[in-house]
Amino acid sequence: MKQALLKIKSTVPLTNDVFKTVLEGDVGTLKAGQFIDIKLKGFTLRRPISVCDFDDNSITIVYKTVGEGTLALSSLPKGKILDVLTELGNGYVITKIPKNAQVVLVGGGLGVPPLYGLAKNLKKQNINFDMVLGFNSDKEIILYNEFLNLGVNTVVTTADGSCGVKGFVTQADLKNKYVFACGPVPMLKAVYEVCADGQFSFETRMACGFGVCQGCTIQTTQGFLRVCADGPVFTKEQIVW
Ligand SMILES: Cc1cc2nc3c(=O)[nH]c(=O)nc-3n(C[C@H](O)[C@H](O)[C@H](O)COP(=O)(O)OP(=O)(O)OC[C@H]3O[C@@H](n4cnc5c(N)ncnc54)[C@H](O)[C@@H]3O)c2cc1C
Repeated sequence: MKQALLKIKSTVPLTNDVFKTVLEGDVGTLKAGQFIDIKLKGFTLRRPISVCDFDDNSITIVYKTVGEGTLALSSLPKGKILDVLTELGNGYVITKIPKNAQVVLVGGGLGVPPLYGLAKNLKKQNINFDMVLGFNSDKEIILYNEFLNLGVNTVVTTADGSCGVKGFVTQADLKNKYVFACGPVPMLKAVYEVCADGQFSFETRMACGFGVCQGCTIQTTQGFLRVCADGPVFTKEQIVW
């Protein structure tokens, strides 16, 4: 974990209530699937947000304004300095992908952003994979063009059929596939049921964000583990629903 003062470089809306913010500064050494925890003036608890993209001196986050904290974050001006904990969580582990596995990245709604950094990393390492992105409707679609620009075969599903394949992400063929999944718990469960193996990222409510308060503990096949410090990414074999 690293505490850093990061400057807001830009904030742009992606949809009505989803924003992309780029933070600049000494962001630490990051891995796809990790998250940051942002201190906001007037709020006791920090707000955890996944790292969508990163390089040596910037972090991109994509978040939905669901309450007062994220709303405050989205309205902060360019140049504002934020107190941020970075390098949090374990992140995805690419070396766990079995040889010859067919890899699919499956994101649902605001579970899509952390898969972008992973997709870039897989591309860099010449690992082939497909993407499945699930949303409720076409109005909620985020990052689709970004994945296309990476040259990834990307399927979109919408629950109401307004874009792409009508239905949930499980419309895609995930049988016998090694998946990296992030999204709402019902989606994670459905993907877990059909895939061969994989890594699943959880966005459980948490307080401290770095393993001290134990507030985000979940039961796993290895006993109780903390989503913030032992996760947020868990392997299929670790998960107990
Ligand atoms: C590891 C992790 C990664 C996340 N990544 C993203 C992301 O990339 N994009 C995104 O839009 N959201 C993400 N979330 C959810 C995000 O943290 C919440 O939407 C946000 O904290 C809500 O804050 P608020 O003040 O606007 O809402 P409020 O509902 O007012 O928040 C009240 C409290 O509940 C907590 N809380 C509320 N909803 C959640 C939630 N779903 N998960 C965890 N804590 C919550 C808040 O942190 C705060 O402490 C992530 C959560 C976790 C745990």
